[in-house]
Amino acid sequence: MLDAIEHHGSSVQDALTDARHTRNCHPVHRAWARDAVQAYLAARARHEAGGYPATRPVRAEWVGLDRLRKPDARGIVQYERTAWGRRYATEDGMVREIWIPSIGTAKEDRSEAEIAAAAAVAATGVPARAGFGEPYRKIETGVLTPQRVRVVGVGLGDGEPRVLADWDVDEAAREFDEHAKARYASVLDGGELRPGSGCTTCEGLLGCTALPVLPGLLGVPASRRPRKRRSVSISDLRIYKACPARFHATRTLYIKDGRAENEAIRRGRAVDAWLTDRHRQRPRVPCRNVPLPTELPGLAEDEMETAVRMIREHHAFCPLDGLTDGDDIRPQWRVAAYDPAADTVIIADPDLLYTESGGWVWRETKTASRRTWEGRSLLHTYPQLALAVLLMASGVPGGDPRRARIELEILREDGSVCEEFDPLDPATRDEASDIVARLAAGWADDETYLPHPGDHCSDCEVRRWCSASGGPR
Ligand SMILES: [Zn+2]
Repeated sequence: MLDAIEHHGSSVQDALTDARHTRNCHPVHRAWARDAVQAYLAARARHEAGGYPATRPVRAEWVGLDRLRKPDARGIVQYERTAWGRRYATEDGMVREIWIPSIGTAKEDRSEAEIAAAAAVAATGVPARAGFGEPYRKIETGVLTPQRVRVVGVGLGDGEPRVLADWDVDEAAREFDEHAKARYASVLDGGELRPGSGCTTCEGLLGCTALPVLPGLLGVPASRRPRKRRSVSISDLRIYKACPARFHATRTLYIKDGRAENEAIRRGRAVDAWLTDRHRQRPRVPCRNVPLPTELPGLAEDEMETAVRMIREHHAFCPLDGLTDGDDIRPQWRVAAYDPAADTVIIADPDLLYTESGGWVWRETKTASRRTWEGRSLLHTYPQLALAVLLMASGVPGGDPRRARIELEILREDGSVCEEFDPLDPATRDEASDIVARLAAGWADDETYLPHPGDHCSDCEVRRWCSASGGPR
């Protein structure tokens, strides 16, 4: 829609109502896009009203091109730096801007490297184009180089622009040298394997030593129609189960309205973050030997007491107690596996992985305000555990599966517990396969993602764009 308005002379109204732009979009996506376009245009207007000189849209991509006479040590003859975003320039070409949209509000935590890299593309990039799989080629000659560049973040939720960089080109070059150059080099030379959702588009997926191949892990048949390789986590599948439309909008498209999370969720997150940070510290000190926190990010003063009590409850279960120097400990370590039957990369983020007597222990920590309903199995209540059982039974993350163990630490204000599961126990495995397969069943073949309205609509991040929720449109 923005291309139609900014590059092809369409009126805003025509672009918003032209069905061609949203032909392949889910209804929630379509409704969101109409709002986002208007928020974006409002941000552009606000920026100009704030005293910045008028700029107009630039259609051609800017690419930082470095062409070498002969291949360098990496075997490269052309380096290409691009920046994702929308491009603008003043009429005389002396000022260039790159606008980088974010879903809710303009991101506050963009790194200096990221901002400097974008600014450098604006400062020295040339209009260029590339065919599929081809190197970029300059498409215009005699284009003036700018004297000044800006990087502007923009929130598609609140329509607020945020100027991240406003530099003359010398400053942009200095910032690039200082913050971005070394990062580019480390990316180019990096050889570490870090499997995750990015594996879905990796050509090396099938030969990769870091991504275990586990046929049938999800327990779903191959898709009836060819579709793009996907990645999925258990929390994705839980959201899908509650409402396919919410899953598609929030987990595939990352749309959200920026509403505040409820206290229980914020508390769980704050407790998790504190424990993860603690467990990452070196030298390792068991949590009982450090002072309790006096504040936690995201929690108000009157919300602290419960959280602190939960952290104190953790003292009884802290895995650092009794850990030897030879043991490994990995808080929030991403685990991934590939299921070729479902053509899906399955992602898990255990709260903690640690070794004990040559085997891995997979720890999930949950905060709960109430007692878990005793009649329901813990694997059902916390299906991440079911996936952990299946992965560990298949030898992920490694080590001796006979020594592998899963732990569920439930922190309550009082009466906390730490339950253990043996991934090789046949009954546990059967139950886990069943739980994961049931969760994945509908998801695997869905192409329409119909909304499934219910009580969960009340805290849904995409409610305002969903016609089925009864929320405002
Ligand atoms: Zn601890």
